[in-house]
Formats: sequence, C-alpha cells, structure tokens
Amino acid sequence: MIQYKTSEEVEKIKQSADILGRAHGEIAKHVKKGVKTSFLDKIAEEFIRDHGAVPSFKGYNGFPSSLCISVNEVVVHGFPSEYELKDGDIISVDCGVFHQGFHSDSAYTYPIGEVFPSVLALLKATRDSLYLGIEAAIFGNRVGDIGYAIQKFVEAKGYTVVRELVGHGLGRKLHESPEVPNYGKKGSGPLLKQGMVIAIEPMINLGTRNIVQEKDGWTIRTADRKPSAHYEHTIAIFEDRTEVLTTHKYIEEIHRF
Ligand code: MG
Ligand code: MG
Repeated sequence: MIQYKTSEEVEKIKQSADILGRAHGEIAKHVKKGVKTSFLDKIAEEFIRDHGAVPSFKGYNGFPSSLCISVNEVVVHGFPSEYELKDGDIISVDCGVFHQGFHSDSAYTYPIGEVFPSVLALLKATRDSLYLGIEAAIFGNRVGDIGYAIQKFVEAKGYTVVRELVGHGLGRKLHESPEVPNYGKKGSGPLLKQGMVIAIEPMINLGTRNIVQEKDGWTIRTADRKPSAHYEHTIAIFEDRTEVLTTHKYIEEIHRF
C-alpha cells in the first residue's frame, strides 16, 4: 500500500534530505585517488550522527555500513572496504539518512581522475536520465512514465537498464510502495498522486543489462564486468509541482564533469 505523506511529513523528509545533501558534500571533499572507500564511510557516519540523525543503511537487513560504495563493474550495494581509489575508476556513493522519523536516499557516481571517454559518457547519460525521469514524475502521470523516459533515453545511446533493482517509495521506511522501475511503458503503473514520495535511481550499464550477486549476499555487479552508473534523488509529488528533496549541489560545487 502506498503511504501518502502530508505536507508536514514532506517537510520532515526535506530536513532529512538536507542533512543527506550536506553529508554527500562532506564525502565529496574526500573522493579522490588513493583514498580508501572505508574512509568515506567513516566521514559519512560521523557527519550524519553529528547532525542528530542516523545512517539509514547501517544495520538495514544486516548491511554493515553507512554507505553503499560501488566501484566500476559494481552496480549497487557494494561494501566500503580497504580498496584505494585509483585513476580511471568510477565510484557510486549511495547514502540514506533517517531523521525525525523519516528517511531520505540519494546516490552519485564520480569519475576518479582520467576515465575512458566512453565511461564518462555513461555517467553523463545516467545523470541526465535521472532528471528526465524526474521531469516525467508529475501529478497525474504514472510510475511507468518515469521508467519509459529513462529507458528511452539511455537505450537510444546504446546503454542498458538494470531490471532487477528499482527505485521505490520511502518515508517512515527506507523502502515503501510503489516500486519505481527504470524501464516501462507510457501510461502504465500506479498513478502519481499528491503526497507520494519516491526515490528515482537509474542503474545503467555500458554492456549487458544482466547482473550477478557476489557471494557476500549484497554486492551486485554486471555479468560482463563492464562499468555501471547510478544516480538517485528523493522527490515529492504535489498537485501543482514536483519537488526534488535531495540535492547534489554540494557534490557538484567540488566535482564538475
Ligand atoms: Mg540509495
Ligand atoms: Mg534507493
């Protein structure tokens, strides 16, 4: 069942999302070659707790960390580790914040140093597809319109859409109804109504769309080990507008590509 939020509840999610946006900005200061991904996790957890909030992911179904860190062929749900970032890597940093009873969720994929032009193009297209999905996420449209917009754009460029993992409603729980696939048919799926809060999160691959799960039970990587990109925002639907509650602005003040 979809949990429709009141304006007061959306306001609380916005405050959660504000802490999240600034946590991403803090992480962004340290995203560079030579840095261990476990260090980024430490920065995130400290920042979130220092602001009176809780990292949504830590302990979620047993997940061990505050961030999902997914490098190169890892699509999502990678663990922070002793791995040191190197020139040519791409790294997805996915973070959630729980504050005043509400979750917010957003992700950003960074290039480290010089990456292959084809990989940089994948990142740009995936980021663009997130905003096209958000443009389609308006009152009176349907969930399928979001996936349609994303899929049409990225497949025209020769990329593929991961099917097994999708965006989601969120609020008092990190994952609520509805599922928000990054593929779909125009005019299909649940109606977008006032008070819906959803996370849109395209996961787009350079090669095959097929994925495999590593033996750790979490890490999802591409079957062909080609790179995958991931961007995410939490948004709220109102009758007269759609608001993007999370922000990448603190990241993009530091990292531009
Ligand atoms: Mg996320
Ligand atoms: Mg999410």
